Amino acid sequence: MRSIGIFGGTFDPPHSGHIDVARAAADNFGLSEIWWIPVGRQPLKPTPPQAFYSQRLAMVRMVCEADYRFVASGADAPRGDGQPNFTIDLLQTLRGENPGCSWWNIVGADSFLDLRRWKQPEQLLNFAQWIVVSRPGFDLSRINDLGLTSAQSSRVHLLTDIEEPISATDLRDALKRGEKPGAVPPPVLRYIEEHGLYR
Ligand code: ATP
Repeated sequence: MRSIGIFGGTFDPPHSGHIDVARAAADNFGLSEIWWIPVGRQPLKPTPPQAFYSQRLAMVRMVCEADYRFVASGADAPRGDGQPNFTIDLLQTLRGENPGCSWWNIVGADSFLDLRRWKQPEQLLNFAQWIVVSRPGFDLSRINDLGLTSAQSSRVHLLTDIEEPISATDLRDALKRGEKPGAVPPPVLRYIEEHGLYR
């Protein structure tokens, strides 16, 4: 059976922290593919992305050259009706289009601790296994406050040895100051420069 990791995010821009998270998830859980899926419109983030969706997808395509298991996917493109994209809808679509696969949703601790604000959290936990990756500044023991049943908890797998103090927000700030942060892969940095992003 194909075991597919889903790695959704804004990727504004994608960075080496994302790459390390995706690799660790694939290595630790034997995933044959990691689908990187930029989100068209994230419902929970207070501000919209700075780069266009097409630009974020183009940068994700470049990052996916880093590992043979990585696949860039346009499955969560902006909706025609202007509404936000919900993970529950994405999972439903992917499962319908690719029967017989096992699905692993990969998220950082910050995202997972927010689970109760996601659309249909109970259903989300039924639709996939979850890989929750530690992130500096976010206390994974707070998962206990989410009130998961034991069946739900059995589908949540922690990756606690990742310590990546990198965020896209900090990288955008650095780029704005004219720096060339090492956490931005060189092809992505070239793309950012060519398209005048994050100035
Ligand atoms: P921003 O700063 O713009 O919010 P971000 O990198 O936190 O950016 P996304 O691009 O949406 O946000 O991240 C995609 C996924 O990767 C999310 O699940 C996020 O939690 C996770 N992630 C991002 N950076 C890290 C990190 N340094 N350590 C662990 N997980 C991370």
